[in-house]
Amino acid sequence: MADAQCACGALRLTFAEPPQLTALCHCFACQRRTGAPFSANTFYRIGCVEVSGPSTQFLRTAESGRKVRMHFCPTCGSTVYWEAEASPSWIGVAVGAYADPGFAPPTLSVFEQHKHVWLQLDETLEHFNGLPDR
Ligand SMILES: [Zn+2]
Ligand SMILES: [Zn+2]
Repeated sequence: MADAQCACGALRLTFAEPPQLTALCHCFACQRRTGAPFSANTFYRIGCVEVSGPSTQFLRTAESGRKVRMHFCPTCGSTVYWEAEASPSWIGVAVGAYADPGFAPPTLSVFEQHKHVWLQLDETLEHFNGLPDR
């Protein structure tokens, strides 16, 4: 299975099993985190991810009031993974950190109320304003 890493390669993740879910997010926090118009995020069970290399943490408060702990490389600044208080058994990983055009496509697109107007997405995605009620 492909590893994920930051731009300089110092912070790396390896995985013991495939991701559970991949989603796009258009929220403003993701736009600012990535510097891109939307984020592509994949989620693993927390026990199957091994982290190597240093990371700096940034604790963000989500709109829900719960915390999200972002881990980014102190040298190059790439955010590679995060943990959300709202889903403590999962770890989120930035899809761009794989640099793999063949990575499994997303099945969900969330916070579409903030989606850039020019962006066209596949009709096979499930679309949500905000998060799905699950
Ligand atoms: Zn780095
Ligand atoms: Zn987001």
